[in-house]
Amino acid sequence: MLKEEHELRKAANNLILVLTINEQLKQGLESFDALLSMSDFERRAFDNPSSMSAYTSAKEGLHTSFEQFKATYGSAVISATYEAFKKALSKKEFCIEAGIKTDLTKSEAATVFNKVFQELSEQSGTFPEEADGYAIFIEMIRQAMNPAEDTKQIADVCPYCGGVPTRISKAEFFGDMVDDVDGYVWACECGAYAQVAADGSVVGLLADRTLHASRKRIRHIILELSRLVGVTVFEGCKWVSFITDRKIVALQDIEWLNEAECKSITDAFEDVKMRLKAVNPEYPKSHKELIAFLEEGGRFSALNSYGFKSGRLFVPIKVGNEAVRVRFRKGVQDIMLPRELDYQFNGQQFILLHPTGKRERFKLYAKEQRQVLYKEDKENV
Ligand SMILES: [Zn+2]
Repeated sequence: MLKEEHELRKAANNLILVLTINEQLKQGLESFDALLSMSDFERRAFDNPSSMSAYTSAKEGLHTSFEQFKATYGSAVISATYEAFKKALSKKEFCIEAGIKTDLTKSEAATVFNKVFQELSEQSGTFPEEADGYAIFIEMIRQAMNPAEDTKQIADVCPYCGGVPTRISKAEFFGDMVDDVDGYVWACECGAYAQVAADGSVVGLLADRTLHASRKRIRHIILELSRLVGVTVFEGCKWVSFITDRKIVALQDIEWLNEAECKSITDAFEDVKMRLKAVNPEYPKSHKELIAFLEEGGRFSALNSYGFKSGRLFVPIKVGNEAVRVRFRKGVQDIMLPRELDYQFNGQQFILLHPTGKRERFKLYAKEQRQVLYKEDKENV
């Protein structure tokens, strides 16, 4: 693995951690303030501020400490990430991976970093827990270099028949055709409809049956990508953004795609599968090679004992001699790969045999397989 990539991975994971801490502390302080505002202490501080100064300064102290944390550890982490990013920019491999096609000037690099940082801050509550900071950072750079459109205009007139859509309960609209009849759809009498979120907002463009089926296919493609090249759903959505120039952050954003966009994704997916056939990674045949494989950006996922169904995807953020560290929930988890256990290597799969007789089956993904997604310019796709 490139030294620069290694450094940026370390920095980006610290950055994600800081942003998550920041987000959670901010929320915590907000609800703390809201609860305190109802307390008798607040009322007394209102009536007689001077007798309550100790309480008031303790409360302010909490906020000050939070700001100090940001000013010390937080800003150190941000500048370390910026430095690591600038160093990585000098490496061709990194630029190819991040979709940077020309040499960036100092100020262009700073602009890209600021955009990435802003996006990261805004999305800090929604990061996929299985992805590592480096992967997230790369996706954000690619997005900053190739900004996607984020127009979500709800149709007031049905694009199919010119009718006027209204809010209808799912039970009334679908009858017994679907199992889940809770909630509403935004629907037209011709049968076109869009989903309505729990908060009542319309999430998606009005679509007929064909378009709904196409969108369902796109969901499958994103999940299939995960199985095929070992990317997270987050990365799969970013790839869909890249193909369509539409901002797709989560699976539900697929509801905004039109037929032509769905078609371009389906075509691009076929191309990905074709290109993937030409990639023949060298899979590990020993414990030592396994560790090296993961160190080079390899990933792995758990398989069921029959070897078909993929489970959790492990994206290493740090590789040791006998363990890999992955992100898990809001923290990290170490997945042990002890040298003294028995391993059976068989191409893309390996089995870990425990002394207890337990067998764990895994599937491997090489970095070059993921890179197939972005191998060609989209004009050629
Ligand atoms: Zn209609």
